[in-house]
Amino acid sequence: MDDELVARIEARLASPRLTPMLRQYLGVKAEHPEAVVLFRMGDFFEAFFEDAEECARRLDITLTHRSKEKDVPMAGVPHHALDGHLARLIEQGKTVVLVDQVEDPKLAKGLVRREVTRVVTPGTFLDPAAPSRLPRYLGSLELSPRSKTDRWALAALDVGTGELRATFGQSAELLVDEVGRLSAKEVLWSDRAESDPLLETLEAEFPGVVFTRLDGRVHDPEASLATVERVLGAEERAAAEALLPKAALVAAGRALAYAADTQARDAPDRRGQPGLGHVGRIRPYVPGDALVLDREARAHLELFRTTTGEHRGCLLWAVDRTVTPMGARRLASWLSHPPRDRKVAHARHDAVEALVSAPGSLDRIRDGLGRVGDVERLLGRLMLGRALPRDLLQLAASLAEVPGLVAAVADAVGDELGAGSGRLAELAELDPCAELRDRLLDALDPDASNDLTTGRVFRPGFDAELDHCALLADDGASAVAALEARERKATGIGSLKVRSNRVFGYFIEVTKANLSLVPDRYLRKQTMVGAERFVTDELATLEEDLRSAEARRLERTEALFLAVLEAATKESSRMRRLAEGLSDLDALAGFARLAAEQDFCRPELSSGAEIAIEGGRHPVLEQMSGALEERFVPNDVHLSSDERLMIVTGPNMAGKSTIMRQTALIALLAYAGSFVPARSARIGRVDRIHTRVGASDDLSRGRSTFMVEMAETARILRSATEHDLVILDEIGRGTSTFDGLSIAWAVAEHLHDVVRARVMFATHYHEMTELARERPGAFNRHVAVREHRDRIVFLRTLEPGGTQRSYGVQVARLAGLPPPVVARAKSLLDRLERQGRGLASPVGQLPLFEVAPEPDPVLTAVADRLSAVDVDELTPRQALDLVAELKSLLP
Ligand code: ADP
Ligand code: MG
Repeated sequence: MDDELVARIEARLASPRLTPMLRQYLGVKAEHPEAVVLFRMGDFFEAFFEDAEECARRLDITLTHRSKEKDVPMAGVPHHALDGHLARLIEQGKTVVLVDQVEDPKLAKGLVRREVTRVVTPGTFLDPAAPSRLPRYLGSLELSPRSKTDRWALAALDVGTGELRATFGQSAELLVDEVGRLSAKEVLWSDRAESDPLLETLEAEFPGVVFTRLDGRVHDPEASLATVERVLGAEERAAAEALLPKAALVAAGRALAYAADTQARDAPDRRGQPGLGHVGRIRPYVPGDALVLDREARAHLELFRTTTGEHRGCLLWAVDRTVTPMGARRLASWLSHPPRDRKVAHARHDAVEALVSAPGSLDRIRDGLGRVGDVERLLGRLMLGRALPRDLLQLAASLAEVPGLVAAVADAVGDELGAGSGRLAELAELDPCAELRDRLLDALDPDASNDLTTGRVFRPGFDAELDHCALLADDGASAVAALEARERKATGIGSLKVRSNRVFGYFIEVTKANLSLVPDRYLRKQTMVGAERFVTDELATLEEDLRSAEARRLERTEALFLAVLEAATKESSRMRRLAEGLSDLDALAGFARLAAEQDFCRPELSSGAEIAIEGGRHPVLEQMSGALEERFVPNDVHLSSDERLMIVTGPNMAGKSTIMRQTALIALLAYAGSFVPARSARIGRVDRIHTRVGASDDLSRGRSTFMVEMAETARILRSATEHDLVILDEIGRGTSTFDGLSIAWAVAEHLHDVVRARVMFATHYHEMTELARERPGAFNRHVAVREHRDRIVFLRTLEPGGTQRSYGVQVARLAGLPPPVVARAKSLLDRLERQGRGLASPVGQLPLFEVAPEPDPVLTAVADRLSAVDVDELTPRQALDLVAELKSLLP
């Protein structure tokens, strides 16, 4: 904490010249010195002093000052634009404290009372504009340095949807994987864990994550367990305790307490812990229960974003056919935690199959879901006290879709002739929460305004008192005219008028000539020259009504809205179950749609070691229109414990990386419950997928390419087992040929002999194909090309045996190397091959150029330059640069 800042705040607070408003502000600031404090004043949220300067800088807004305190810097944002500005501050890693007026400024005596209404932090901010198709987790970590079994526990709470999961483990690597998998923006820890090396590891690994330290005395284990019980109830607590170590519950409790504290201060109270009624339970999970993909594998396989950070082109992009944000989040969670338990995947395959074979029902389901809102988040807003009238309307409209959905699902199940899928049969019983739906539709105006103060929220006819107030408020003149007409009729005085002025308010005016007709109930108020003015009880009441109608309408609207909110809140657990069902239904229907549209097949899962894919395709590449100039060519891949190490060779650009990644993705999709892009697929047990692809730079972590490559390879060798699938793509590139080949060879041997994992190993070292002769489980495949008049044609088929040629010269030609250079390179290559260089002999050591006839200096220079080039390593761009360089050598 910044002591200097705290001292400055205290010094300001001590100043006798401080205005009461600034004293109020600094009081809050003293409690939250590290946050930006925004103070509601009229229509603005204002920051002062350092915070004003910070806001001006970070938000690009003008720095001004108060008229009363010229030396106090001030900067503000209009309250209606608050969310956007909050998002920018949060994105920059700041926490923001919102101080709002908690009494009506018009009624306040002296200074308006203000309170901290929300603390907005990176992990809890519910940005209405943020993409809702991915969960947004707040992480919470509990470390137990002395524990032998659960060294760490991690809880993750999505405050917007109420999803709460918790897990635990022993190794630092798993923890790093899990934190990476959550992509949490903020992770809580208790300062009891101060100077724990595990925490330091995390902070180093995730520079973009805010690690928020909580006071361990406030958030002590007992208090956190009590929070769990308050929010979830004793039953849920006991259920979670049966499956999780205490530390995991403590982490969960801390996340709940923090969320309630920061987000739910003005939410409806539930069991003494406000605002988290949408959190129903703790979902325990064991990292080992899911097919594990570590951070490298997730990045290399481009599961949730491409290596360049885009959504288009990642696996999620390619397989997402969901129509609701709930379904999209469910799909993301299935893909990031594919259960190892084959029964789960199997049940999903059953449901997908049933839906695929009932295309009419599938269409109806997806149509219906398209009209359903984000029930999960709507419920979250409701329970956090943020729901507005239109949220409730959307909720009601969503509920109204449920019966149609249920009928469509029942049809799909029925089409299965009784053998229907278990999960689908459950989904055919979704609870439409009909009473709540009717109540909401009955109460709310179909065009309800979100503004309780001026707009119309409830249907006319829903509440007589509200209608009365509204009539008066909207149409005081006609109420007066009606009274006037009634009085004319009653008295028979045609010229009788109801009028008003500021001094006497409303009165009835009768001309002198008609005074004899005035009834007794008229009370004389004022005598004019040609007329008398009267009041009646009724007129006095009307006047009072008119004066108070606006206020009463607001009051009544608020009371009615609160009652509706309360009724909805009471149904939270039913709606939560409904939201869960809708999420599953959407994710399953999405899989079905994908399977039908892309011609995926149902994979067969087994406990064996075999991976047998026929006609497999890459799920992303085959959909990247424009990226492929040719049709995607399907391939077969077969791995088993007897044939476990596949050495994949073939020229650059042939398709080695593609076929390896597609194999991993097919296995992953199968376990996530999806059908797969293949003609048929049998996928045996896969506990974990490891990948090490290419030589990617990791300068952000300050390690050299080769170091990273070796560190990751080491990690794979250490942690892989025979139940894993290992994808190695050209490891050993980052160093010299001899080193690289030796390392690649030794790694392959180790994987074959010791680890016994199923391995696909692409390499540009043709020498590696020799392994197949030495090791029984090793075999060769190459991606075929055809030579056609010195050019190569990529066939994209995976075929038995290795290649002895790299076709580097042909690829260089494709890349645009000038014909004379290609011709010269080819003749040098021919000579090398004729001289029969040994398998492992380094290129370039033969006295090539001495034996060239009449050494021409230009040609020698070109040849020297070329011989220094490893064509396999060239990117097209480098090839072009090389051409330019070579051209500059010509006379
Ligand atoms: P390598 O790893 O052998 O250098 P890649 O796997 O990166 O080759 O593939 C290079 C390009 O070839 C891919 O980007 C893709 O455009 C195309 N490609 C690969 N496999 C296929 C295939 N089976 N069918 C069609 N195009 C393919
Ligand atoms: Mg490659």
